[in-house]
Amino acid sequence: MIIDQYTRLYGVMGYPIRHSLSPVMHNAAFLERDLNAVYLAFESKDVEAGLQGMRGLGIKGMSITIPHKSGVVPFLDELDGLSENIGAVNTIVNNDGRLVGYNTDAMGALIALKDKVDLLNKRCLIIGAGGAARAIGFVLKEYGVEVSIANRTIGRGKALANTLGCPFVPLKEIGVVDPDLLVQTTPVGMHPDHNQCIVSPDVLKQGMVVMDIIYNPLETRLLRVARAKGCLTINGLDMFVHQGAEQFRLWTGLDAPIDAMTLAVKNALGKGHDRD
Ligand code: NAP
Repeated sequence: MIIDQYTRLYGVMGYPIRHSLSPVMHNAAFLERDLNAVYLAFESKDVEAGLQGMRGLGIKGMSITIPHKSGVVPFLDELDGLSENIGAVNTIVNNDGRLVGYNTDAMGALIALKDKVDLLNKRCLIIGAGGAARAIGFVLKEYGVEVSIANRTIGRGKALANTLGCPFVPLKEIGVVDPDLLVQTTPVGMHPDHNQCIVSPDVLKQGMVVMDIIYNPLETRLLRVARAKGCLTINGLDMFVHQGAEQFRLWTGLDAPIDAMTLAVKNALGKGHDRD
């Protein structure tokens, strides 16, 4: 790869950021498509300053991650319809200084789920009420799935349930829901806390579909227990790659090299690139 005076700059902004595999994934995509572009990780607590830098230096696109997905919204010039409805942005496109926000988490999750499950008339329990839960809840409701929300902080969980027009269930009572599909969206069980699991094994029934949107480790404790109980399990890798593929398309206008992106992330997980 040659970096020169024409190289276009992209990145991810969050705090903390050193666990992110977005740089590995997007740089693999740029390389595969032979684009003169590079993608870096920016660790910042200050969203407003970060976006000023993006405008001022002509950074072409930015992924937005924890904890800024909602906080970034007031500083953007425009939101697309989906991110406006969700109230969270994970992607910014810089159109000659005009910053436009999108949410590709929703589409990434939907593609990952539809690849493995027929969603028609399904009942889904979403664990969590943060940015990812909002995006997934919104897109599943649009798709006609019957959604319920469970969350640690009751006020936040109820607020999301109200927004989606669906029931809220306290975390301790999720056993009564008996969903076809359970989607785990909290960081519980993520590296380095491999042994944590937010769902009691009694909740998991044979034939249930269990998706954990964590991709590090690829098989969380929740998925391990679910697999042992005869559930169909889906890890967070496909969602991660598909949300990234949608970002790549928004930034470049090209189809994303999904296989190269998936391989890059898998290799990085194997080599511990997420641990520096
Ligand atoms: P967020 O907005 O900060 O929301 C975090 C959610 O997790 C909240 O509902 C929070 O509950 C809950 N939570 C956090 N720690 C908890 C704990 N110890 N016990 C119980 N609940 C806890 O984060 P986010 O953007 O939604 O992301 C959440 C996770 O999804 C992260 O691990 C992220 O890496 C992953 N993710 C994956 C993808 C992918 O493509 N695979 C995409 C986006 C996000 P409270 O309301 O009680 O605080």
